[in-house]
Amino acid sequence: DQYGIQASLKRLGINETNLGSSTGSTWIDSKEDFISSFSPADGKLIGKVQTTNQEAYEQIISQAQIAFETWRKVPAPHRGEIVREIGNALREVKADLGKLVSYEMGKSYQEGLGEVQEMIDICDFAVGLSRQLYGLTMHSERPGHRMYEQWHALGIVGIISAFNFPVAVWSWNTALAWVCGDVCVWKPSEKAPLSGIACQHIVAEIFKKHNMPEGISSLIVGDYKVGEMLSHDPRVPLVSATGSTRMGKLVGQAVGARLGRSLLELGGNNAIIITPQADLDMAIRGALFGAVGTAGQRCTSTRRLIIHEDVFDEVSKRLASAYSKLVIGNPLDEKNHVGPVIDQDAVKMYQEAIQKAEAEGAKVIVPGGVLSGAGYESGCYVKPCIYEAENHYEIVQHETFAPILYLIRYKTLEEAITLQNGVPQGLSSAIMTTNMREAEAFLSVAGSDCGIANVNIGTSGAEIGGAFGGEKETGGGRESGSDAWKAYMRRQTNTINYSSELPLAQGIKFDI
Ligand code: NAD
Repeated sequence: DQYGIQASLKRLGINETNLGSSTGSTWIDSKEDFISSFSPADGKLIGKVQTTNQEAYEQIISQAQIAFETWRKVPAPHRGEIVREIGNALREVKADLGKLVSYEMGKSYQEGLGEVQEMIDICDFAVGLSRQLYGLTMHSERPGHRMYEQWHALGIVGIISAFNFPVAVWSWNTALAWVCGDVCVWKPSEKAPLSGIACQHIVAEIFKKHNMPEGISSLIVGDYKVGEMLSHDPRVPLVSATGSTRMGKLVGQAVGARLGRSLLELGGNNAIIITPQADLDMAIRGALFGAVGTAGQRCTSTRRLIIHEDVFDEVSKRLASAYSKLVIGNPLDEKNHVGPVIDQDAVKMYQEAIQKAEAEGAKVIVPGGVLSGAGYESGCYVKPCIYEAENHYEIVQHETFAPILYLIRYKTLEEAITLQNGVPQGLSSAIMTTNMREAEAFLSVAGSDCGIANVNIGTSGAEIGGAFGGEKETGGGRESGSDAWKAYMRRQTNTINYSSELPLAQGIKFDI
């Protein structure tokens, strides 16, 4: 145990076997099967977690409903104080939790720490927000009347999260939802359930310390069937789901069928346009981290480079040279640049994507392959690869969650923007240029159609201060900063008559 994993697990309250259904400090034995969490880093079993059944789920939802009655009446700035303490508790466990995230999910330790930092940042954001849940006032058209709007807590927020950000995505939702007065029921990814258990322990202690009821933060564990309990449940007014487009369509339909609200954060197919006026050093660095960081398993990973024909050969050569220096190995070893993909299914999808790309005519620039031998025993390590391809290839149109980068040539900026937008997804996009006209055209209404559009920054690595999310098949939801909090509240318009008359709006006469 050269990375001190066992000691970190112990400090985080993770055992060999763990219950998975919780209303806070209370853990419910559902008498169900356990799912096993294996590390993609070394293939070893980290721990087991019991799944949630209907009975445990019912208990959790009932308790969440009770908790909401109390929590919604706690003044928002006081709710913010509790979220502040959660942020502070996360500061204390940053190294341990970052290590667990890295070990369970396979991202580098630095990125694991970054993910916990993101949780801390969103808690700080939410503390400020707790005093800024502003509504507008309007001028009434009727004399002696006043109009305003206020934002009220919504109720139970269901959170379904993906494996690749096993803890940060939850915090983007919960930190805001809590200061808004909502209670949360979280179903973490079945591929990273222990990270969920660790978070639940951390927050439960803080709520308990403040004598808050059980049920403000609940956890349910399992696969899609447990996710479906949330999406089909009319007692859950908002379901925030992060994951594949396939999942988002199912969750969106289930929630829509009962006219609930869904907030969907789905797949991306993100491109960087590299123009002849780009700072190429910067472009190469941005593309490299975007494409190989987190082994290509970020929703914002760079999947396509749209490169002007005049600089195509140079970019391609320099990227190939950078790729040759990548060190692939255990994510906890800080000298490695690229860790494993999540599991062997992901390896299979990577291999299939390469085959499809080649069959469609893609030309190899940096070859891929699955690594084996010492250090690669888990079978989850793959070589980041680069292909020259065309945008219309079916495989290029598709998000493969692995480090495969497609290079595409263009002649005019208009063509580049059309290519960038010419995929079903609309999450993140970027242009590398020092030319103001090119940059502004890319950001204009006729430019990128994505939820995120950057200039001289790659596609991945968003800050919490902005609203995060994307268009088209990415699902349209927005989380995190700016006014994303409004999704977690219900808006109420109030008209107050302080006159002694009762005039109707629009001047309508109705006298008896
Ligand atoms: P996934 O869709 O397989 O699973 C995501 C979650 O949805 C899991 O918790 C899973 O159990 C649950 N789920 C699956 N089917 C469901 C159903 N029918 N009903 C209810 N719940 C269901 O995704 P994954 O492999 O864990 O994550 C990778 C995907 O997530 C990629 O497509 C990536 O782009 C996307 N992602 C998007 C964002 C974003 O903010 N846009 C962030 C992270 C990941």
